[in-house]
Amino acid sequence: MSYYIDVILPIPLQKLFTYTITKAEATFLKKGMRVAVEFGKSKVYTALVYSIHKKAPIGYEAKEIYQILDEIPVVNKFQLTHWEWISTYYMCSLGEVFRAALPSAFLLESETEVELVQGFSNESELSNDEFLVFEALQHQPRLSIFKIIEILGKKSIFPIIKGLIEKKAIVVREQIYEQYKPKLIKYVRLKAVWTASEKLAELLETLHRAKKQREVILTYFQLQTSKKPIKVANLQDISNCSSAVIKSLVDKGILEYYFVQTDRINFSGNSSELKELTTHQKVAYKAIKESFKTKQTVLIKGITSSGKTEIYVKLIKELLQNKKQVLYLLPEIALTTQLIERLQYYFGEYLSVFHSKYSMNERVEVWNNVLDNKEKAQLILGARSSMFLPFSNLGLIIVDEEHEPSFKQFDPAPRYHARDAAIVLANMHKAKVLLGSATPSIETYYNAQQGKYGLVELNRRFGNVLLPEIELVNIKEKYRKKRMKGHFSDRLIEMISDAIENKEQVILFQNRRGYAPVIECETCGVSPQCPQCDVSLTFHSYRKELRCHYCGHRQAMPTSCGACGSEKLNSKGFGTEQIEIELEELFPDAKIGRMDLDTTRGKYGYQKIIGKFEAQEIDILVGTQMLSKGLDFANVSLVGIMNADNMLNFPDFRAHERSFQLMVQVSGRAGRAKKRGKVAIQTFNPYHQILQQVSINNFEEMYKEQIEERWQYHYPPFFRLIKITLRHKDFNRVDEGAYWLGKALENIFKENVLGPSIPSISRIRNYYIRTLIIKIPQKQSLPATKVAILRVKNSFQAIKEFRPIRFNIDVDNY
Ligand code: ADP
Ligand code: ZN
Ligand code: ZN
Repeated sequence: MSYYIDVILPIPLQKLFTYTITKAEATFLKKGMRVAVEFGKSKVYTALVYSIHKKAPIGYEAKEIYQILDEIPVVNKFQLTHWEWISTYYMCSLGEVFRAALPSAFLLESETEVELVQGFSNESELSNDEFLVFEALQHQPRLSIFKIIEILGKKSIFPIIKGLIEKKAIVVREQIYEQYKPKLIKYVRLKAVWTASEKLAELLETLHRAKKQREVILTYFQLQTSKKPIKVANLQDISNCSSAVIKSLVDKGILEYYFVQTDRINFSGNSSELKELTTHQKVAYKAIKESFKTKQTVLIKGITSSGKTEIYVKLIKELLQNKKQVLYLLPEIALTTQLIERLQYYFGEYLSVFHSKYSMNERVEVWNNVLDNKEKAQLILGARSSMFLPFSNLGLIIVDEEHEPSFKQFDPAPRYHARDAAIVLANMHKAKVLLGSATPSIETYYNAQQGKYGLVELNRRFGNVLLPEIELVNIKEKYRKKRMKGHFSDRLIEMISDAIENKEQVILFQNRRGYAPVIECETCGVSPQCPQCDVSLTFHSYRKELRCHYCGHRQAMPTSCGACGSEKLNSKGFGTEQIEIELEELFPDAKIGRMDLDTTRGKYGYQKIIGKFEAQEIDILVGTQMLSKGLDFANVSLVGIMNADNMLNFPDFRAHERSFQLMVQVSGRAGRAKKRGKVAIQTFNPYHQILQQVSINNFEEMYKEQIEERWQYHYPPFFRLIKITLRHKDFNRVDEGAYWLGKALENIFKENVLGPSIPSISRIRNYYIRTLIIKIPQKQSLPATKVAILRVKNSFQAIKEFRPIRFNIDVDNY
């Protein structure tokens, strides 16, 4: 009698694959355990056991597995059911979901590389095999699993790798590595020799010539009476001196610096103490609970800074008390230290953070803690992929900033939307979902209007601070009247000067999309293009080079035009970097910071800039979208949007909705704490309806107009969309393939097929691109539609010339 298992392989494979196992293995193996198997030409994979049975596969001979990798399942039944839904709904393979779901440390495969841990010296602890690998790594910086199999001359090497990792001798190589580092705050105190009160007179005597330093010491004593630790920034502020004065006191041995983790300070208080909700928050909180009685999903639409987070906190607290797990989903960029610290303050010992920028070990640790339903993993705060964790007892999923585009994964498959997939996941656990946003997506708001979701509104800011006053600055006129300096209108300059004079901070927003500076020849008008993509290269003045934002290509800035030889090359358009340069000229005394992909790349890049801005070491912060998310700065009184038009003109059916959301969110960073903030929006078209709606925060009207357009032009939520993308290096081949596919789809879906079209960037990394969109009316069955599409795909791939064309399907591609 033979035993078999069906496994999920972490590759795009339409079917499960079958292997044989021994009787002993059959009694031990369970669904959800990992095994190492060979697939294809001596490639090794980690596969997941899906079922155990006695039926031999048809059409091929089942191979034996190499070995079992787990003692208990690492994936549970909820997950497998959820993955099946994702794979069916988003039209991808289970293998692709498996690959996206597991931390890569769980997915060792032939190409995975390992490297030594620097400073490991306990060689005596290693077994013979382990030592061989260790020794091989002395001679080369890294080894692939494949190579290790060769070196050891055997295939069952996973336990050896595992052993070496556990003994901390090697690590699996990875590109991104960032640990959550608690933020350190810099404090000062008097050095011990000076603390006795009789020393004060002596101290002041020694300083009688240094007037500034004396003042600082006097302020210090004044502050000390409150018995709280004294922040360097505070001392500086109150005594109105520069950091140099404090530093000289430190150099003299009078003061000393010390650092404290902010979360530790918080913990010294009573960490279980929640903030008392305001009357309005209480009403909203009760309404949410009431709504949950009849609805699985509730939308809370609360304006920026209305205190949505405090309401979430209260709900989370209750669920944890009832021993339920809570998942708190946020867009990646909104997962800031600020929020982590805030939640840690309330839920310290129950909170785990799951983030793609965290190291693999940390991610594995969180996975295991959730799997074991450990206390530490009752509340998970994470970006979209944290929805794949092995929850067994979910009670609530919060999707904050639910309108954010980054909840959707575009590449690679599974091309899922985390908000939508989370609602399905919650259903499996009989859990509730709370969607939160100041600017909900049109689809979600529609669902709320239709009664599918509950709807709760919160229209007052905490502390009754008014929403910022928004001013539209007509730069068309300003240009005509010559009142522009670079990209700054006289009005914006005036507002920035006012803010700085009042010692308030400023945020300037420049949407990067398609608007970084491009070089253009003044003589012939040609711009240098990326050799591999159909885009102009972007100028980076810092390194004096041109870069492609799509494929990463770089080259030195040319000295003359490649087309006509002229030396008159000019930069056109403007990005954050150029704004920064202009600011330096306009405000030579202000401290200016920049936050975009380039400045936040490093390990703690993002945190560093935020930290500096918080500590008010930066007066004006220039940045991209990154600025709009969940940040809470008390001292920002002005937000400037450099150019509203480029987002409005983006060719996409959501461009208006997105522009509204982005501008309202960025504006929300102004005046959160004390007084009403100001926002200046520079535009060529101040009468645009979206700008008018932003200026009075009229979400309702924006919604009405947009939903009307969606209805008229057959877009979501009335029609669903499925997008097909074809890619190939040969222009003609992809062109012909797209034409064929368009005809084949039209035969079935008639006028509901758009395209084939050439996207605005028609070639990336030398691959030519064509797209097709299928619109699906509400009455048309979605599953039947998908079956039909797959049938067409099969015919397409049966044609020899078309088979090499990459064929991607994206369901709900928006
Ligand atoms: P939102 O998430 O709606 O933008 P937040 O929850 O971040 O708003 O709240 C904005 C600010 O107001 C935060 O600094 C928060 O600590 C404060 N806040 C909100 N509600 C309360 C409350 N009930 N008591 C004290 N502070 C509050
Ligand atoms: Zn390129
Ligand atoms: Zn030229």
